[in-house]
Amino acid sequence: MRITLVDILSGRVRIVRRKVRRVRRSLPETEEVKELRRQAKEYLPLRLKALADKYGFEYNSVRIKHNVSNWGSCSIKKNINLNLNLMRLPEDLRDYVMLHELCHLRHMDHGQEFHALLESVCPGHRECRKRLREYRLI
Ligand SMILES: [Zn+2]
Repeated sequence: MRITLVDILSGRVRIVRRKVRRVRRSLPETEEVKELRRQAKEYLPLRLKALADKYGFEYNSVRIKHNVSNWGSCSIKKNINLNLNLMRLPEDLRDYVMLHELCHLRHMDHGQEFHALLESVCPGHRECRKRLREYRLI
């Protein structure tokens, strides 16, 4: 059946608007999470900038996120997302995650070159990775 504009305007064909189910992308904000977010916004962008400057990385933007899927991410557009849960980690693990994301600015995969670069800016990073597994995202 060919639907024309006349059909639609005359009401012969009803346009059914599909209800868009809003998927809750972020997790509920408990008081604990609110506090983590406050700390994260204050601390993480400054720390990321300091680490980037120290090792000569350049990124576009940094955003604080709350999810249970990753500690951080880096997009092809050089935008870095950091999970507010980083504030629950010891400082060296926090730095490790941020350095991991900064290294993705040069290598988007987890290949040999990526790990060599990460090792040069974060010696013993494989040990950090193991220790990170002891922590859960909330
Ligand atoms: Zn990665």
